[in-house]
Formats: sequence, structure tokens, C-alpha cells
Amino acid sequence: MTFLLALDQGTTSSRAIVFDAAGQAVASAQQEFRQHYPQPGWVEHDADEIWTTQRDCVRLALARAGLAAADIAALGIANQRETTVLWERASGRPLAPAIVWQDRRTAGHCDRLRAAGHADLIRARSGLELDAYFSATKLAWLLDHVPDARRRAEAGELAFGTLDSWLVWQLTGGARHVTDPSNAARTMLFNLHSLAWDDTLLDLFAIPRTLLPEVVDTAGVLGATRPDLFGAPIPIAALAGDQQAATFGQACFAPGSAKNTYGTGCFLMLNTGATPVASTQRLLSTVGWRLPGETCYMLEGSVFIGGAVIQWLRDGLGLIEHAADVEALAASVPDSGGALLVPAFAGLGAPWWDGHARGTLVGLTRGVTRAHIARAALDAIALQTVDLVDAMNRDGAGPLRELRVDGGAARNDLLMQIQADLLGVPVIRPRQTETTALGAACLAGLAAGVWRSPAELARHWQEERRFEPTRSADWRAARLHDWHRAVARSRAWAEDAP
Ligand code: ADP
Repeated sequence: MTFLLALDQGTTSSRAIVFDAAGQAVASAQQEFRQHYPQPGWVEHDADEIWTTQRDCVRLALARAGLAAADIAALGIANQRETTVLWERASGRPLAPAIVWQDRRTAGHCDRLRAAGHADLIRARSGLELDAYFSATKLAWLLDHVPDARRRAEAGELAFGTLDSWLVWQLTGGARHVTDPSNAARTMLFNLHSLAWDDTLLDLFAIPRTLLPEVVDTAGVLGATRPDLFGAPIPIAALAGDQQAATFGQACFAPGSAKNTYGTGCFLMLNTGATPVASTQRLLSTVGWRLPGETCYMLEGSVFIGGAVIQWLRDGLGLIEHAADVEALAASVPDSGGALLVPAFAGLGAPWWDGHARGTLVGLTRGVTRAHIARAALDAIALQTVDLVDAMNRDGAGPLRELRVDGGAARNDLLMQIQADLLGVPVIRPRQTETTALGAACLAGLAAGVWRSPAELARHWQEERRFEPTRSADWRAARLHDWHRAVARSRAWAEDAP
């Protein structure tokens, strides 16, 4: 029997899942780690805690599977993206808390770069929207605020990495300092076209090259774990950003195929094939994966508040007791009764990128009940996704023919039907919804020769349920017209927001 191990290093927890050669999960372990909020807008993780929780999850998952390290053909890592770690090469100790992707402390740095006219150059080279979300300004902040860091970086004493690099460093005892193009493409220091670190961007953000990891393929054996960690070395065979791994796990291998993950936020990834698409719609252009001799690019759009709007109904308004209760409540009415909810609680992401937008509830009349508000919340998740798909279509990357879905809120059948109706294309939910971990395992299995090709992997992907659109184009257009009027009312509200 052949087994693969996926390390799913997320924003709130570390997980390890053992898969068999049919792509079925056989055992898993999960550990949460602490979130630190030292100041408003700051979010930090302890990189050491991430490492120890991830290591312990591997040990626990192997024990639960009744397997030894020697039974594992290879491991793959899927990780939270952009989160920035700076460590000392000699000791492998982090110099400071990791700055998490959500952290806004460098928004002012981004504003200054924008005011100086650098946003277009950054977009052209990195494919990214100039924003504090990405690693470059976070790393610059660490170099400028950790005592002596810049001098030591220039002397070659320090290493930078996203969580993939950090975990590989720890797993190999410092033998490998590497990343893959799907992670590198989120740093804002990586050239999307040459697939190499970009000197112009390094100069712009004042980042010494000596800090950077070597860029290796997304799937390819790059080393092995220290023998003492798990009892025997395990080949490390894949590194991928979590959303890219999920896209791989959804078998979106063909140009034009797409997946949307409905978690706290929503992440839509569309495969655009062998060349990057320069978005005119403020979507991100990014690397999906680089297999030996073959790079696949993606367009990406994210919604900041997706499933989180359901948490707000539960915790903020007390309308429901459990997130899953929203389905029955929303299904008790045929529509939202004219109410529209724009959940711009943290501003709006793509395609608006409006940090000043705030949540807005419009169209209220005396007949509107809590059920209508619940329905409007589901509509809002789906409508934000439609805006991303429309932006991708305007970029010439579509038209989308179907959407594969995953994430916690994709379990909601009503939401999936609303999504199909508003998109006008089928929405397809797979049997295996742990797509991030599955993607990491599939990439590792390809590299280790467990599977020969993506085509072979595609056969393991199985549909659980398909939601067909039932509404007319006129109905969709009317809903979107109202939605955009509501979005317009949410925008430019918070006058002093960064
Ligand atoms: P993450 O990985 O971002 O933590 P998950 O994929 O675990 O998120 O999904 C959790 C999110 O999905 C929460 O925001 C929750 O409110 C939402 N959610 C969970 N179940 C449902 C449901 N049945 N209907 C709608 N939203 C749901």
C-alpha cells in the first residue's frame, strides 16, 4: 500500500492528513495555534508554535493511521500564503513574530508607493494589486524594526520565507531554504513572467537578495525530513499556497476551469493556462503551480466576508444558534423581500478594492423579517462571487462553464442553488471537500511517481452533487442591477480608514 501525507498549514490551525493511493483520507490530526493582536490592525503568529503544532500533527496522524514514516511515499505542504517569517540561519530561530497576511500595519507604506506612482510597475511585474496583504512590505517592516536586522540580512545571516519555506527549513534541519512559484508569486518580489525574483521589485522594497529562498517546482522531490523527526526520512515532494493546492485538489487542470472556496472569505481561482492574464479588472494574476517544464497561471479574486457574514448573523445579531441553521431560516421565505445586505465589514476586495466601504443593509420595508435578512446574507455571498466571475469574464479568461466548490459554507445546499441561479452555470460539489490537503497530497504523489499525470488524478475527483441554474438571464440581470446599486451605497463610507 502507498500513502501520502499532506501538511495543511492554515491561518488558525495546523493539520496533517494521510491519504491512500485512491485519494481517500485515512487519518488526520489538527491543532489550533494562537492568534496575536498586539495593536489594532496587527495580526501575528509564533512561527515556532506553527512548527511544533505542525510536527505534532504529523506524528499524531501517522499514529492514527497505524503507519510508520517509512510507509509514506512523500509529503506535500499546502500553507497560508503571504505570512512572513524572518529567521536566523545559524540557529533556525525566528527574529520576530510572523506577520500574518491579514495584518494592515504596512498600509501606509503601500499608500506612499502608490502616491509615488509605483502601482502599475508592481502590477506588471508581480501580477498583484499594491496592498499590505502581500509579503514585501511586511518583510521591509521587519528589516526596519527588528534591531540590527538590515545589517545582518545584508551580511547573509538571515533568511526570509513564507510558511512553506519555514516548515521545509525546520523539516530538513536547515538543509533546504526553498519556496515554490505559487508561494513566491504572493510575496510581491517575484516576476510572474520570468518566474524569478525580480531585482526591480527587490530595489523598490529595499529587500536584500541574500534573504530569499531558492525557487523550486511546486511538485518535485526537494529533500527529506530529518530522520530523527518521525523515525525515518520522508521525501518532501510538493509546496503550494493553500488556494492553489485546493484548485489542484479540485482537478481544475484545464484552462477555463475554476473553483470557489466558501470559508471565512471566498477565494475564486480560474485556471488561465500557460500564460498570465494581465487583469484590467483589479483581479490578481498569479501562479497556480509549476510542474517540471509546465507552468499553469491563474486569475484570483477574493471576497473578504463570505461565510463570516453567517457568523455575524449568529454572533453579532443572534438570529441563529449555529451557522448551519441559516439554511432553514433563509429557506422559510422565497426571497429576501427586497432587502440587500452588502457585508463590507472590512472594506470590499476584488474587483472594488475599497478599504473605505462598510456594511450596508438597504431596501428595508415593514415586511422584512429575520428570515429575509438571512436570505439576503446568502444572496450576498453568492453575489460577491458573481462579481468576481464577471470580472474574470471581462478579462477575457472565461466564459466560465461550471464552478467547483468547497469550504465550510459550500455544505449549504440553498446557498449553492442561489449561486447557480445567480451565475447561470452549474455549481458542482465534490465528494472530497478537503481539497487543500488533497491537492498537496496529489502534487506530492505526482512528484513521487504514485500517479503519472494530472489526467490520472482527474479520475479520482468525484462529484457529490450538481446544482443547475433555474433562472432566466433577465432575472439574473435584475438581481445584479439591484446588487450594484446596493454596493454603490456601501462605498467610500469610512472616511478615516487606511
Ligand atoms: P475557514 O477555513 O476560513 O476557517 P471553513 O471552510 O471551515 O472556513 O468554513 C467556515 C465558514 O463557513 C464560517 O464562516 C461559517 O460561518 C460558514 N458556514 C459553516 N456552515 C455553514 C452553512 N451551513 N451555511 C452557511 N455558512 C456556513
